[in-house]
Amino acid sequence: MKSRVYFIKVSEADSISAVQDKLLRLLNKSNLFAFIKPFDSVAVKLHFGEEGNTGFVRPEYLKVICAKVKEKAALPFLSDTNTLYKGSRTNSKDHLKLAYKHGFTPANVGAEVVIPDERDKAQIREVSLNQKFVKNAQVLSVYLEAQALVGVAHFKGHIMTGFGGALKNIGMGSATRQGKLEQHSNIAPIVYADNCVGCAACVEVCPVKAISMKDKKSCIDNAKCIGCATCIAVCNYRAIDVCWDSGGDLIQEKMVEYAKAILESKKKKSAFLNFCIKVTQECDCLAQDDPRIVPDIGIFASLDPVSLDKACLDMVNKAAGKDIFRELHPRRDGAKQLEHAASLGLGSLEYELLVV
Ligand code: SF4
Ligand code: SF4
Repeated sequence: MKSRVYFIKVSEADSISAVQDKLLRLLNKSNLFAFIKPFDSVAVKLHFGEEGNTGFVRPEYLKVICAKVKEKAALPFLSDTNTLYKGSRTNSKDHLKLAYKHGFTPANVGAEVVIPDERDKAQIREVSLNQKFVKNAQVLSVYLEAQALVGVAHFKGHIMTGFGGALKNIGMGSATRQGKLEQHSNIAPIVYADNCVGCAACVEVCPVKAISMKDKKSCIDNAKCIGCATCIAVCNYRAIDVCWDSGGDLIQEKMVEYAKAILESKKKKSAFLNFCIKVTQECDCLAQDDPRIVPDIGIFASLDPVSLDKACLDMVNKAAGKDIFRELHPRRDGAKQLEHAASLGLGSLEYELLVV
């Protein structure tokens, strides 16, 4: 069955206030938030952008979204999880600081910003999934406990998944560090010996004593490693990282299984918006001003994250005149995440595009 995807065109010439007006028209015409009830706590899941990145969905647009949620007498909050890699969003304190720096303050957007802190184990939940690749998903409980979910994603390319949109925002973006590592690799990170100064900080923090020092370099015992990713966060020399090359399409399949862990708890209580504005080759974790790969397209909205991502992918490729993400990331076929998500019942590959 075809799902409805609403679309409003945006061009580079549009001012921020013009895009706000268009977003409001899209939300009104689609009645996207009809499922939100008074006093629902609504997790608005997004990406605040890495330090120096310019592709993230602007706070001015989140202000419009939060205002529409509040019209329902519901209680929105903006949220994202900490990153696996070392950067400006590795811990909740720095992450919150950067979100504010990028303009996502409560005063600007009309909602609190919540960055769950995994050091508090009460904020982590294991969801029994028993899927093909993920048996138990490690997610942040804040997204399970909220009564409703609004996923807001910047649609763009991604080095590991071909492209990233609604499914990636929820699947990868709601996972704990351990969950992210499980998705990214065959669990154990790798050591770049040239960068390792032998400080042994990683040895100290490893909860299962999987790290030892050999010839003054860190060495990980893959058999013992549980993939918690703590060592990546603690190393100040970028000597430990995710094994980015491993896994093939497995990352996409695990990622959408993680999305299922969240979305099962939000049946008829979730909606998704993808911004195809400043579509870039790489994701918003890139700490630089990544240029556009196609002219701005517009904003898409749907209750179906699979149809939504498929519609965006089709429109970006149409604008590019080719399968642009396959060209930019030849080792990744982003269609895999859509096919697997559809097979899991997360949505439909067929959609009806309703132009607002
Ligand atoms: S924390 Fe980093 S630099 Fe220090 S021993 Fe571990 S890998 Fe090497
Ligand atoms: S990922 Fe966790 S368990 Fe594995 S080596 Fe690093 S700190 Fe130890």
